[in-house]
Amino acid sequence: MTTVKPYRVLLYYMYAPIENPEEFAAQHLEFCKELGLKGRILVAEEGINGTVSGTIEQTDEYMQAMQKDSRFAEMVFKVDEADGHAFKKMHVRPREELVTLRLEDDVNPNELTGKYLSPKEFFEAMQNEDTIVIDARNDYEYDLGHFKGAIRPDIEAFRELPEWVRDNKEQLEGKKILTYCTGGIRCEKFSGWLLKEGFQDVGQLHGGIVTYGKDPEVQGRLWDGQCYVFDERISVPVNQTEHVIVGKDYFTGEPCERYVNCANPECNKQILCSEENEHKYLRGCTHECRVHPRNLYVKEHDLTDEQVAAKLKQIEEEDTVRLG
Ligand SMILES: [Zn+2]
Repeated sequence: MTTVKPYRVLLYYMYAPIENPEEFAAQHLEFCKELGLKGRILVAEEGINGTVSGTIEQTDEYMQAMQKDSRFAEMVFKVDEADGHAFKKMHVRPREELVTLRLEDDVNPNELTGKYLSPKEFFEAMQNEDTIVIDARNDYEYDLGHFKGAIRPDIEAFRELPEWVRDNKEQLEGKKILTYCTGGIRCEKFSGWLLKEGFQDVGQLHGGIVTYGKDPEVQGRLWDGQCYVFDERISVPVNQTEHVIVGKDYFTGEPCERYVNCANPECNKQILCSEENEHKYLRGCTHECRVHPRNLYVKEHDLTDEQVAAKLKQIEEEDTVRLG
């Protein structure tokens, strides 16, 4: 028996002209707060992109209100059940672009974008010869989970993707290219840009990984690991038939799917790390971060200077053993 959870997380976007993003954002924030939603929404002249959480009633009301607006009538909401809110606050922020590619001349996905492939079409296309699958997300998203055999562009931010493609053109030329991202919004632009760049056969996963994972036919097959999401859940499952862990513990390289932020607030780097290693390494990604005067782990656990020193000594000793 499946029980319905009391909350929902909605993920959605729409490329549609919004005349005054600043004004729209301010009004939309009021509206969301009145409904009781929490989340993060970006608004730009080119459209809207959001993730919000709320009760079933609140999210129903939100979806209905949005679809009454002719600009967003066609918007697709990806809906996940949840036990509670996935955010602490409600933000609606005006932005220059919905996704930051920083292109010399921008791509409008409503005019130019790659071929939309359903989960089933994407699943089949991935297995064709002469096909290259490019993950259009950031490295830390890929590291937690990705399609088997997908290329991980060596980039830290989406805006570096065009440069990466130009640097690796030889690898891609003459191939069929498939792109995918979490909900589809990044690929709308990236696949359009690839076409503009001269690549001819470019497909994108319609609805993104989250839609793929819910498709009753493909059931998330050929996906390894988890899907990184930008809310408190941090990750959601995709492959319903098998679970291969591809994430690796930052310190030991052991299989790991647990993301934490470095305890140095000035670093804040996301690292995959077991609970055991979090305690051992004071949740610091480097020695400098462990001994940082504002280390949050030390604060949270109320450690004395002696306790910190003992932990640091233990790390040092083990490193000496390991390095011989
Ligand atoms: Zn750090």
